[in-house]
Amino acid sequence: MSETPKKCRLIIVSNRLPFTAKEKNGELHFGESAGGLVSGMSSFLKTVGTSNSSLSEYLWIGWPGGTVSEKNIEELKSIARSKYSSYPVFLTEEEMDQFYLGFCNKTIWPLFHYFPTYTAYQPDMWQQYKKVNQVFAQALLEVVQPDDLVWIHDYHLLLMPNMVKSRAPGALIGFFLHIPFPSHEIFRLLPGEWRKDILEGLMGADVLGFHAYDYTQHFLQCVVRILGHEHNMGLILTTDRVMKTDTFPMGIDVDRFISALDDSATQNEIKELKKSLPGVKAILSVDRQDYTKGILNRLEAFEILLESHPEFREKVVLLMIVVPSRIGVDRYDKTKKEIEELVGKINGKFGSIGWTPVVYQYKQVPFPSLVALYHVSDVALVTPLRDGMNLVAKEYVASRVDNTGVLVLSEMAGAAKELGEAIIINPNNREEIAAALAEAVSMPIEEQQRRNRMMRGRIKRYNVIRWANDFLSQLLAMRDVQNKFYVKLLSEPIKTSLVSDYRKSVRRLLFLDYDGTLVPFVRRPEMAKPSDEVSSMLRMLCENKKNTVVLISGRDKATLGQWFGDACMTLVAEHGIWVRKPREEWKMFKEQSADWKPHILPILEQYGDRLPGSSVEEKEYSLVWHYRGADPEQSNILAHELLDHLTNFTANIDLQVLRGNKVIEVRAAGLNKGSVGLHILSSESFDFVLSIGDDWTDEDLFKVLPESAVSIKVGIANTHARYTVQNIQEVHRLLNAFAGKA
Ligand code: UDP
Repeated sequence: MSETPKKCRLIIVSNRLPFTAKEKNGELHFGESAGGLVSGMSSFLKTVGTSNSSLSEYLWIGWPGGTVSEKNIEELKSIARSKYSSYPVFLTEEEMDQFYLGFCNKTIWPLFHYFPTYTAYQPDMWQQYKKVNQVFAQALLEVVQPDDLVWIHDYHLLLMPNMVKSRAPGALIGFFLHIPFPSHEIFRLLPGEWRKDILEGLMGADVLGFHAYDYTQHFLQCVVRILGHEHNMGLILTTDRVMKTDTFPMGIDVDRFISALDDSATQNEIKELKKSLPGVKAILSVDRQDYTKGILNRLEAFEILLESHPEFREKVVLLMIVVPSRIGVDRYDKTKKEIEELVGKINGKFGSIGWTPVVYQYKQVPFPSLVALYHVSDVALVTPLRDGMNLVAKEYVASRVDNTGVLVLSEMAGAAKELGEAIIINPNNREEIAAALAEAVSMPIEEQQRRNRMMRGRIKRYNVIRWANDFLSQLLAMRDVQNKFYVKLLSEPIKTSLVSDYRKSVRRLLFLDYDGTLVPFVRRPEMAKPSDEVSSMLRMLCENKKNTVVLISGRDKATLGQWFGDACMTLVAEHGIWVRKPREEWKMFKEQSADWKPHILPILEQYGDRLPGSSVEEKEYSLVWHYRGADPEQSNILAHELLDHLTNFTANIDLQVLRGNKVIEVRAAGLNKGSVGLHILSSESFDFVLSIGDDWTDEDLFKVLPESAVSIKVGIANTHARYTVQNIQEVHRLLNAFAGKA
């Protein structure tokens, strides 16, 4: 019988907890917090602990929304734990202000929503952001246990995944961004250190989720351009980690909206609303008061509608609910004033005693009233200039149980990707919005139902519970994905036993690759000279009479000769074409011809000219196109093109085309590190054989070595090597241990 998988605990981390705690006259008062994240997660959390769930319980970490005095802290902690399954993070109101109203809402929010001119770049805010992220990370570290799943949310905590990962590498961490991730052109407006820290912060997650495909692609583009890590279908392998990015469009709790329609509170609201809207069509607009929401554009479009379609006057009403938000940020206060002036202007211009064109409310509405508004409104007008998802659009469609109603939706909302049957508009085009409104209020019922049936089906299927389960199951599955890569990691016990085998042996053969194995890659290959540390380590190894050390490299023989001419080791240049034993001359391993070079060189040179920062290296019997210094995206495209070109061109010539680490190399077929390695191996009888390398060319050697040999790949990857190590420092540690230094 198969074993039931063990259930794990979920730890959610978000800026705000699902409740607020405030102190009044020395007493604690608790209230619910609002917002899409809290309501969505709360619906999902009701499923935790049920028989169908893979989660046993949850704990929510966040700020409780106010400061409490010392004497109430223990009580707050205890109620948070028992009543809300929460673990509060304590911050002073001042810290929270600088962090939340500062870097979060004056830097990240505007920039990520494509408002660069509203973006502040203040170092003190950045420092505060880092500090508060550390406080959240510390709170998590206080409670996290080995089998927990951690799910961190949103733009307030972009640095936190890496802060946690570096201190608790075993923790399984998910991160979801609820706002857009901007294109590289926008993201790179952030100062260098900030943008690097933010990307590295996010990459500390094991699974990183975005609402829309475009946001995922933008993130991946920034990672390759700024950090230099490429991806394969969203999977990113750095030298020491494997993480994944993917798209998970957030859903809503559809049943909650449908069942709320049966509540008496909602029904009463519906009756009242219908009474106050006799014979007019209601157009609904609900948003937090935010400049990203396009509220002004919407009002201007409504004005154009009334201007250009007099027949709609007295026949339509715009119900405009604006929810107070981020009071205290100048930009928000300014927008509020502009909205109210425009509402006044429209009502003054078109209104009559019996008809107010815009019914404006600046307040938070209770849930039954919101559902009633969704129910009675003939049209929902959702026109953000940029929005990560927009849940209001989904909630409106979900609440239309008879499938009537028309959604007018901005193409700039993430939700537009799923709600294609809405009337899609560009929010900057007021005339287009006005025309969409005219179409919406006149749309036949059958057409409304046809559109909504499709959208409701989709929203019902991919609801918030499915969304959360989807994310968490991918997070859980990441353990297996990572294990496949991590299984070969050289552990301390294996390392100890290798060192012991080494010490016991009497004839040892050590194959060492150079670039990426003993020294890091640099922009210009000629700058990768061995450091004193590397030189002395190699000297110690090869001065030991029991060792035959072979430096096996793709470099040309002149460079190897210059750097290691005096060393007592065997040098192999150009991936096996040239071999030089200690104190001997260079010898060609196998007779080669260079007749083919004049045919291939112009092709490589053409690519060298096309891609700034790339260059062509001509060795005696091989040609290499280097592109480490070039634009990473463009070079990827050109590298594929060149590989194709060369593979076709060389189909009938005895040449091989190899793609190495930021290089493409062409040379004679039938010769590689494997063939020369085997030759050296067979020249004597060895009782300890080791090969270390980082590149595809090293795989040729790993593949052919006998089973008894120890092969080690530098960097996590699919490899023929027996073991992997995460970086060059680990190679040094191992070799120093052999040499007796560690
Ligand atoms: N909402 C609310 N109270 C209100 C009006 C709206 O709680 O008075 C909710 C609404 O139901 C939706 C959320 O606020 O779930 C707004 O989410 P959306 O994605 O549309 O915009 P955001 O405010 O997250 O940018």
